[in-house]
This record gives sequence, structure tokens and C-alpha cells, in this order.
Amino acid sequence: MNAAGGKSANTMFREFSGPLTRELVQEPGDFGLGKVPARLKPNATTTMVCGFCSTGCGLNIHLKDGQAVNLTPRTEYPVNLGMACPKGWEALTPLAAPNRAITPMVRDASGRLQPVDWDHAMTEFTSRMKAIQAKHGTGSVAWLGTGQICTEELAFLGSLAKFGMGIRHGDGNTRQCMATSVVAYKQSFGFDAPPYTYQDFEESDVIVLIGSNLCIAHPIMWQRVLRNKNNPEIIVVDPRKTETAMAATQHVPLAPKSDLVLLYGIANMLIQNGWIKRDYIDAHTTGFDEFAEFVRKFTPDTVAAQTGLTVGQLYRFAETIHQGRAVSFWWTMGVNQGHESTRTAQAIINLSLMTGNIGRPGTGANSITGQCNAMGSRLFSNTTGLLGGRDFMNAAHREQIAGILDIPVERIPQENSLAYDQIMDGIERGEIKALWLVATNTAHSWINQNKVPELFKKLELLVVQDMFHDTESSAHADIIFPAAAWGEKNGTFINSERRFGLVKKVSVAPGQALSDFNILRLIARYWGCENLFKNWTSPEAVFQILKKCSAGQPCDITGIDGYEMLDANGGIQWPLSSEERKVFSKQYSVNSNGNRSENGKAIGTVNCKLKTLNSIPNQRRLFENGQFHHADGKAKFIFENPRATPEMVDSHYPFHLLTGRGTSAQWHTQTRTRCSAVLRQLYPESIYLEIHPDDAEQLGIGANDSVKISSRRGNVIATAFLTPTVRPGQVFLPMHYETANRLTYPAFDSHSRQPSYKHCAVKVARA
Ligand code: SF4
Repeated sequence: MNAAGGKSANTMFREFSGPLTRELVQEPGDFGLGKVPARLKPNATTTMVCGFCSTGCGLNIHLKDGQAVNLTPRTEYPVNLGMACPKGWEALTPLAAPNRAITPMVRDASGRLQPVDWDHAMTEFTSRMKAIQAKHGTGSVAWLGTGQICTEELAFLGSLAKFGMGIRHGDGNTRQCMATSVVAYKQSFGFDAPPYTYQDFEESDVIVLIGSNLCIAHPIMWQRVLRNKNNPEIIVVDPRKTETAMAATQHVPLAPKSDLVLLYGIANMLIQNGWIKRDYIDAHTTGFDEFAEFVRKFTPDTVAAQTGLTVGQLYRFAETIHQGRAVSFWWTMGVNQGHESTRTAQAIINLSLMTGNIGRPGTGANSITGQCNAMGSRLFSNTTGLLGGRDFMNAAHREQIAGILDIPVERIPQENSLAYDQIMDGIERGEIKALWLVATNTAHSWINQNKVPELFKKLELLVVQDMFHDTESSAHADIIFPAAAWGEKNGTFINSERRFGLVKKVSVAPGQALSDFNILRLIARYWGCENLFKNWTSPEAVFQILKKCSAGQPCDITGIDGYEMLDANGGIQWPLSSEERKVFSKQYSVNSNGNRSENGKAIGTVNCKLKTLNSIPNQRRLFENGQFHHADGKAKFIFENPRATPEMVDSHYPFHLLTGRGTSAQWHTQTRTRCSAVLRQLYPESIYLEIHPDDAEQLGIGANDSVKISSRRGNVIATAFLTPTVRPGQVFLPMHYETANRLTYPAFDSHSRQPSYKHCAVKVARA
């Protein structure tokens, strides 16, 4: 016997069995997975797309007895080519979180949320909703949806609400991220049509990133940039020296919200130097001469003065575009969340059109989406646009949809919904009395956050449908519907490059939680309108309905058979009409040995990877023929005089507050990412403020000091992070923490009604 209770010194230090050792033992995983931890050895695998961001990475899901136990990125999926970011690797973890909503809840007379069964929750929901509509009219009820649920669920939600329940107003949190790109594309191209494919990241020789910290916000897209063999020039336009700007060949550190002036100035420089493609402009666009005249006033000196850049920096930027063989322009939230964001996005589109950088490999005016299914929301949520990218105010479109859905045309509203901010204003005015939130967290993410609790109090009914019971919004709810999460249901997402990807049920939802699809079916039944949706029996049945809704539209997907074809192809980009599919089938063929040919000639291994068994090329871009979606087939140059930011800095509030993503391990309001112990290790636990060391010194602020940031709307306490990546006079706050939107200024782009999260005036002091 020894001091360790019978263990020899050798076994004290070298334990060959026991819980920790068992965790580390690896075994062949089979299914081409290499070695995996023994406890996670699967007995089957399946494939699906990630449910966090719009990149839409393909994942192998490892199954044990039908239940997901682990995942790995798919090497052959044309999006991520075997890569995943930390969120993707941890995507299954939130499913097992202890704060999952597992039962419907209804607030009782004492003000407490009490668990109830679905029958009780549905009866309460439908009776109270109907009573409010009967008393205050159909405009008194609204819903706010999301870009996080499946396309089929979005279509069901929007159709049930508008056609079945007679709700007039619905919008989504996609208003907060992508409304600008939608309006910009619609006005410039005639349809909301992002033209690119991710292969373009690898084929450009000049990549211009505007308001996009790709390394952090879209890490796998950044990996695609790193695979580019052309040694590309990378220009990053951003006030901060972000991780992406550090890796760029040119960082253009413009003054906050001077982007529209900068882009008009670059356009003018290109024109004055003759660095434009006149043939392309004449053949494929309208409005160029007016645009050229308009931008004459944006002289290099004027633009330099307003952007804080030198004329030399401007010239180098313009000259680099001119010298590029294939120039791609990419933008995301730094542009979309601005006070004149639609015109800024269109200024980027104008640069691409005037230099002929569109419709060719490595080119394009390319908006990068945020949420995993923002594109599904844009095309099929039936909120701001009628199903399939149609228009509620177009009588022919209403007839088409009524015919496809076999519903009376009178059930289709003849007007557009209110936008998100207008719904919130309607609540404030007392006109909207009931609000139904679906997979969105307004109490955290809305730009005018301080007002949200007060607005929610004005409601007679707040319903929250979510996978968690304890979001900031759920705290105010009268009714909570527990929803299944990504991984617990079937459907499709559409990623940034227009690719439909498949989502599958690989895990059982906890407790009584139901998929959003099944919650909507229940509502239809309890509301008494289930007959209108008799064919909406499953997500795939709805996919077939959406195919019909897309027929003849620019987003035509009538050439996609169904889910099995999506799975076999590594996703499919829209459009794929049945006619196009026939053409591809003739063009590409596969013989009985599996050898492939294109127009009768054998194609090499690399090209083979770009063709699929169904002969559909899986990297397709739009506008290769120069035909746009306006009636004349041409794209439009659209422009407008820039306006000052709605809130200027002054002696009381001397700092520009910039907001954005913090790390690649955080997602939006963190309801899911905070469930992962692994992800929590990758970002600071509490909110921090990036401030330049010179400013910090002047204010007597040291590293890690507690600081108070104040705007005219509220205060936030944060930890000071001294860094020269922000310029003097500017500070940066990550948007994921609950307090950030106490500060932001509620300004909205007048064309897209997207909130301007990216800029306001604040002061900073030691707390
Ligand atoms: Fe998922 Fe986006 Fe990360 Fe890909 S980049 S793994 S889609 S979160």
C-alpha cells in the first residue's frame, strides 16, 4: 500500500484507463472520416449546410443511431472545399443547450409565464389575435420574421399570415442586413440578383472589399480569396484597419460614412482618365452620360478633403481598377447599414458597369449576405415582395400567384407591408396592437433598443416563436412557441451566391418543440384556414410549390427536381429553369465509365469538379450575356447627391462610434454561440471598446480600464482595448453584446429603410 491508496507512482502519472483517457481514444471513423474519438464513432453520415451565416458551407453530419453526434466540413462541397469556421464546427452544440424552449408558455393573470400544452397555446394565440383584428382592424397585427429559418418555412409564414390570417404587415430581420442590396439591385438590374459565384474570389486579379471585414465576418470566403493564384491586388475600404485591411495590398482608411463621396470620386477619376469600357456601357446600360456629368464635381481635391484620403491614394485606387483584368467589387454591412446605403451600393454597381467588370469570371458588383437564409427571405418570404420576387402592387403578379396557389385573388394584398421601423412606429402610435416575432430578437438587435421595452408594453399581445425561452425578447412575451432549430427539421437555405442548400433533421427537437413548419400548420388549423394550405403538407411539398412560383421569374428553379437533386449536386444556384437544364444536359455528358465530356470533348479533372452528375455546372454567374432584367435589357446608372450623416460629432459627443462583428466565433445576438464553451473561449466575455492609444492617453484611460460610452440615447460600460487599428477620433464597439444598441442612432436609408447601425456620435470617459 502506498500514499496514493494502492496506486504505484507509475500509474499515478500514466493512467491507461479512466474517463479522461476514454475521451482521447480514437478509432477509425469509417465513411472516409479518418480517425474520430471512439465515443463519437458514427454508424452513418449525411450531408447538409451550416445554419449560421450566408456562406452556406457544406457539412458531413456524423450520425449514431440516427442522431447527430459530430460533424466535419465537406471537402467536395463547392462552397467551402473542406473548410469551416469555429461556428460551423460548433453548430450542433446549441441544440443541447439547457435554455432551449421545450414547452409552449402563456403568461397568466399574475404575470408569470406558465408552461401549457400546444392546444392551450394555439387556442390562446388564435383567439387573442382574432379579437384584436376584429376590434382594431387587420392592420393592427404584424409579424417580424428572420433570415434564419428555411425557405419553405418563410414562404409558409408569409403566405399563412397574409393570405390565411389577413395580416397586412410583416417584415424580417433581413431588413437590418440586406434590404439595401435588394433595393439597389432591383433598381439597377431590374431584379434582386447578386451576380457572382464564390469561384470569382479565386479568379479576380483585383478584389475590392468595401465595408467588409471578410476575415472575421465571412472567414470561409476569405479562405477562397487566399486560394486565388493571381496574386491579386486586394483593396479594403474601411475606416478601421481591420484584420482584412491588415492583409490587404491597399487599405483605404476613409473618414466614417464618406464612402459615397469616395466612390463618386473614383468614378470621376476613371472617366476623366478614359479608364472606362465605352462599348460595354453603350451596349448594356442606360444613364451613363448623366452620371458622368453628375460626378464631375467630385474632383480629386474635393473628395480628398471629404474622405480624409490623399489624392495619391485616390489615384492609386482608380489606377488599380483600371489595370485589373478581372476586378470584383464586394460589399456588406459597412455599406448596407448606412444612412444613404442604397445609393452607396449603386455607386459600387456603377463602377463595375462602367469598367465592364460584370458577367465575366472574377468580376461583379457583389453584395455579401449576412444570415444563412437572407436570400430565401428576399425571394420567398412574402413580406415586402410577393412570392418569387414578384410585386404585390402588380395585378398580373397577384393573378399568377392566386392561380398557382389555387386561392381567391382577393386574399392577396394589393399593397406593400410596412417596413420594420414603420411597424415599430405603428406600435408606438398605438395602431399595431399585436406582434409575432419568429426567430428574431428585436429587444437586442433593434437600432432604437432603448425604446423596445416601452413599445412592447404598449402591445396587447406579444408572441415569440424561438428555439430559446430566455432571449431578451422572450422576457416580454405573452405567449412563447418553442421552435425546433437548424438540424432538427428539413428544408432549404439560399446562400450569398444564390445556391440552394439542403437542411436536414439530424437531431430530435427537445420536449414539445416543433419545427416552425409544423407550428405554422397548427396555426392554419386552429385559425380555420387550413384548406387554403391543403397542399402545404411538408417542406418538400412547399419546395415544389415555390418552384411553380418561380417559373418565368429571374429566380426560376423549375429545373431542380427536388431535395435529392440538391443533395447530389452540392447545392444548385438559381436560376435553373427546366429549359436551361435541358441545355446543360446536351452540353455535358457522362459516359458509362463515369468519364465526362463537354460538347463532345473530354474534360479534365479540375473542370470535372465544376460539373456535376446531373450536368449542372456548379459555379454559375449572372449577366454573362449582358442582358439585365429591366424591360430594355439594360442596367441603369443611378445616383444622388450625398448627404451628411444624421448625427454629426461635436464638442459634446466628439467620437465617431463604429460598430461591427467582433470575432468569427460570435454570431449576431449570441443566442446560439454563447451556448458553446469552445466558442466562448474565443471571444471576450463582456463588451469592449476599441480606442486609439492617443485618445486613451488624453482621456486618462489605460488598457482594460472600465469606460463609459455615452450617446444622446444611452450609456454603455465597457472594457477599454487600446489599439491603433481605430483612428484617433473614432471608437469601435462589437455589436454582439446586448448593450451596444443603447447607443446607436435610429436613422434609416430612405430607399431601403435599412437602419444605419454603423455610425453615431459618442463621448468616452473612465467609468
Ligand atoms: Fe457556417 Fe458561415 Fe462558418 Fe461556413 S463560414 S461554417 S456557413 S458560420
